[in-house]
Formats: sequence, structure tokens, C-alpha cells
Amino acid sequence: MAGRETIIARTERAKRILRKLRKAYGDADCALTHKNAFELLIATILSAQSTDETVNKVTPILFKAYPDADSLAVAGQEDVQEIIHPTGFFRQKAKNIVGAARRIVDEFEGQVPESIEELVTLPGVARKTANVVLGTWFGKNVGVVVDTHVGRLADRLRLTWNHKDTKDAIRIERDLMRIIPQKDWTYLSHALIWHGRKVCSARKPACETCELATDCPSEGAF
Ligand code: SF4
Repeated sequence: MAGRETIIARTERAKRILRKLRKAYGDADCALTHKNAFELLIATILSAQSTDETVNKVTPILFKAYPDADSLAVAGQEDVQEIIHPTGFFRQKAKNIVGAARRIVDEFEGQVPESIEELVTLPGVARKTANVVLGTWFGKNVGVVVDTHVGRLADRLRLTWNHKDTKDAIRIERDLMRIIPQKDWTYLSHALIWHGRKVCSARKPACETCELATDCPSEGAF
């Protein structure tokens, strides 16, 4: 992998990485517990600046009290805040999820909309959240979700041309979309998140046991 890698070589390497991820993680899915599109949407809004583990502890309580958009739309702001408190930024998040539920009831007949244009009109929903819901629940590969794990791994694996800012999610997403087939966009982000948690952590990547090592330019660099 010495010298500048051509886009063809990078696309081939990305294919091998995908194959290895499928072998290691099978049908890796979203780590946020959910039973329907509404639960996934709300859980994804709550996951901003939080961990999936924390969100998964909070959502069973939240959805027991408010199982659908109709019930959450009329919930008291303070009651919701109390439940979602552990996820951080709880005042803004409570405002967003109640507001999103209201809009779903008022504008979308109580159903989570299935287009990115409609989803981003909901409070607290940016392109990343919309991508998660569309890709994970509705099976629409409209983009690659770039969270902190995906950004870090795309950089270490040199699947992005952007090595300066691993938080530049839009650029990283665009780079990944150039070399990964569209049908694999959602899968790639789920699998990289699992790999980032289990093997290639931020502080101590386990290169010696990593399945991707022979295709990773950063192998052993830590
Ligand atoms: S070889 Fe090391 S740096 Fe590369 S993906 Fe594996 S754990 Fe991460």
C-alpha cells in the first residue's frame, strides 16, 4: 500500500473490508433497541452526545409511558425530561422528541415519514438521524451514517481522503459513497460501529487480533 492508492485499488480494498466485516459481524444491525420506526427515530434523537447503552436503558421506560406518537405528542415536558435525563441535554431533547411526535401526528397521520426531505422537518432530526431511520427501518440506502466510530475507522482504514478532520461527517460520507456500493451503505456503518466498539477503539486498537489488519494502512501504528 506504499505510495498513493488509486481509486480502483481503494474500491477493491473496501470490497475486501466489507467481506471481512460480514464474516466477523454477520447481519450487524443498529445497536439502538427498537421495535418500530417511531421507537428508532426517538432513540436516535436521544443518542446524540450520548451512548447507545445509556439510550437503551432509558427507552424502555419512555416507551412504556409513551408507546406511540399520539401519546408522546401530549406528554408533559417535565415528565419526559425526568425519564430521559441520563442521556444528557435532556431539556432540548425532551422538547425535540415531543415536538417531533406532534408533527408526526399533525402532518403525517401518526406515521414516521419515509423520505429524507420530510424527516428533516422534524425537530431534532438532521440528515444523520434521517439516514439511520431510512436505512435501518425502511431499508432505504440513502447515505452512510458517519458517527464518531465510523469517522475514526474510515480514517484509520484510509477509506476517506480526508485525514485532517475525522469529525467532518459530510466529507467522509461523500468519500465512502464513492467506493462502497449503495446497497451496502447502511450495513457498512453498522458494522464499522461494532468493529470500533469491539476491536478498533479510540484509545487502544487491538491490531494484533483485528480481522481487517492486512487491509489496514494503520495496522500497528499505535
Ligand atoms: S488494524 Fe488496527 S487500526 Fe486497523 S482497523 Fe484493525 S484495529 Fe483498527
